[in-house]
Amino acid sequence: MGKENAILSFFKEQKVDYIYSSKEQVIIIPCFECLNEVKMCSNTTNWKCSHCNNNGNLLSLIRFLSNGHILKAKVYNPKREKKKINNMMQNLIKQSPEMTDRLSNIECKINELLQYYEKKTS
Ligand SMILES: [Zn+2]
Repeated sequence: MGKENAILSFFKEQKVDYIYSSKEQVIIIPCFECLNEVKMCSNTTNWKCSHCNNNGNLLSLIRFLSNGHILKAKVYNPKREKKKINNMMQNLIKQSPEMTDRLSNIECKINELLQYYEKKTS
């Protein structure tokens, strides 16, 4: 786990968006050529982009960033998006007391649906 922590704090420091899955031992980051998502192996730090065939490892990323480049692309993070949706729903509920029941109902349905897919994909 020690090495992963060092890699992740490097990404945080460089403001590179990522999703870490300890179960799969991958870190999803944007490809620095085409900005599509690539999976970096957290053990070897190797990654290969299936969109543009660019490949490398942590070292090539460090070189890229130390040349003054920045990697601004966002990685789609389902957990983060779910949190955002729930916050938006809570704000709507607060602002529209007369709609509370209906909005809470929709919120429940969305979360049930998401849980259904989370079970299917985990
Ligand atoms: Zn690419």
